[in-house]
Amino acid sequence: MKLLVTAGPTREAIDPVRYISNRSSGKMGYAVAAAAVARGHAVRLISGPVSLGPPEGAHAVQVITAAEMLRAVEENLSWCDVLVMCAAVADWRPVRPQPEKIKKNSRSLAIEFEPTRDILGAVASRKGPRLFVGFAAETSALVEHAAVKLAAKNLDYIVANDVSRSDAGFEVDANAAWVLGSDGSRTEWPLMTKQAMAGKIMDLVEKAAYG
Ligand code: C5P
Repeated sequence: MKLLVTAGPTREAIDPVRYISNRSSGKMGYAVAAAAVARGHAVRLISGPVSLGPPEGAHAVQVITAAEMLRAVEENLSWCDVLVMCAAVADWRPVRPQPEKIKKNSRSLAIEFEPTRDILGAVASRKGPRLFVGFAAETSALVEHAAVKLAAKNLDYIVANDVSRSDAGFEVDANAAWVLGSDGSRTEWPLMTKQAMAGKIMDLVEKAAYG
């Protein structure tokens, strides 16, 4: 199988030295890429800025912004059988990134943001027979919010994790999730390492592809 995996955060420039981003470490996406390579699949990993080295055997594409990640996904989509969108893509970016460093001589600073394009939304019409797996980071009503995203983003599966927990989700090595399928399935995955969860995601992907 050919898997396209995205991982990590994106960064959106405010000025030449500042940006808005999020706490994604890339660990979950890198674990999925490593698990897929270990099972003999071809992997292209599109990664935002993280402090991890790409898993051996995966073809790594480094990006910074949501727009660059969108371009990289669009360029590689026709190659893949499976898209796993682990990346925590920035939802907002400054409308006018400043060409010069903003001076700190004012008492307040207002920055106007505009939404970034939804990558899954942008490639949904090119899905064809491909399997799409998305993630949802939620702080409340996990299953309800994930069910809406599963349908809205035309996904086969969504892995929803509660990022308000301190023992799972962003930055740490463990994760706990609910997994919802377009077939109506809802499964709770208890706290486990991100490596173990990556293995379970690969089990789902292989079952969907091979039966
Ligand atoms: O809507 P929300 O950002 O919570 O959805 C999360 C899912 O959508 C993840 O799979 C994420 O990679 C993807 N996403 C995207 N493009 C964005 C934001 C999120 O594809 N601009």
